[in-house]
Amino acid sequence: MSALAAELLAEIRASGPIGLDRFMALALGHPRHGYYMTRDPFGLAGDFVTAPEISQIFGELLGLTAALSWQALGGPERVALVELGPGRGTLMLDALRAARALPAFEAAIAVHLVETSPVLQRAQAKALEGSGKAPLWHPTIDSLPEDRPLIVLANEFFDALPVRQFQRRGGEWRERLVGIGADGALALGLHAAPTPGLDLDGPEGAVFETSPIALDIMRKLAGRLAAQGGMMLAIDYGYHRFALGETLQAVRRHEFVPVLSDPGEADITAHVDFSSLAIAARRGGAVAHPVLTQATLLERLGIRHRAEILKRNAEDPAAIDAAVERLVGTGPRAMGMLFKALAVTSPGLPPPPGFDLADPLLA
Ligand code: SAH
Repeated sequence: MSALAAELLAEIRASGPIGLDRFMALALGHPRHGYYMTRDPFGLAGDFVTAPEISQIFGELLGLTAALSWQALGGPERVALVELGPGRGTLMLDALRAARALPAFEAAIAVHLVETSPVLQRAQAKALEGSGKAPLWHPTIDSLPEDRPLIVLANEFFDALPVRQFQRRGGEWRERLVGIGADGALALGLHAAPTPGLDLDGPEGAVFETSPIALDIMRKLAGRLAAQGGMMLAIDYGYHRFALGETLQAVRRHEFVPVLSDPGEADITAHVDFSSLAIAARRGGAVAHPVLTQATLLERLGIRHRAEILKRNAEDPAAIDAAVERLVGTGPRAMGMLFKALAVTSPGLPPPPGFDLADPLLA
């Protein structure tokens, strides 16, 4: 049993079952035992691989998008380039390199990183050492600067935010809670009472999954964009049309494991509900543009062209082709269709590059 499982069992014995959101928040963010708080989980030796770790082109194309958004904002003298959940700092490093193509943009940038993990903050500091920018860290979005436009990048951030689940029983929704099973281990159960105020149709047994924290962060950031000007680009594993169903999953060393089995030792994520995130962005006062697949976005931003240039001086050009295929491939093992991109802008701003046309892959 993991140290965190023992702690959770004690808490549940003392004060009763807990929501999946609390379980997930502690499994990922417990100060001593949380998955992200104790390790660097990325890469082949770790538990999973993310897009910026697959190819430098990913961060470069996002940096280019940031530069064009800055131009669309009228080229302000000061802008906050923000990343939510920057992992190893690779995306920001690649984005800053691309930003140098536009020296006035590069000069205007202050880098702000929203990160809770001390281990990953250290990795980010190290990655950005030679970037020419001294980043500032924030535990939440609340302390981000208010006196300048924001350009916000978020890759695989929203999928790490805690979800709650509700199940349809006897014509009512009941919250799924983590309690203790007959064998003494953590087990899922249902709240004794129906959830008040949850007005949603669904067949018997259906599960409704939602991340109130994700929606709250999106609504707040949209409010900031509306007030300060700016753009946000969120890319994640997820779906673009609202659907019932559960997507919570745990991954350890590139394999799926039961969600409750080893809290603190496995990465726990849920697919991102982009339709609800877009609604939250609009409620916050910003413009949410139609969702694109990662394949369509990166193709439109010129991933093939950039790959050809990199291949000219590459020791292993085939590796670059393989990385591009992984990012934009539309097969089941590639990321192109599974990952989606949502762009949110302050009112009056044109859509970021790539977002001016709907995605034929999502028709
Ligand atoms: N963007 C990176 C890392 C994705 S993993 C990449 O693409 O490689 C998720 C990241 O979000 C990690 O850096 C994790 O520590 C951070 N994170 C998770 N929950 C967070 C929260 N509530 N607030 C801030 N950062 C969080």
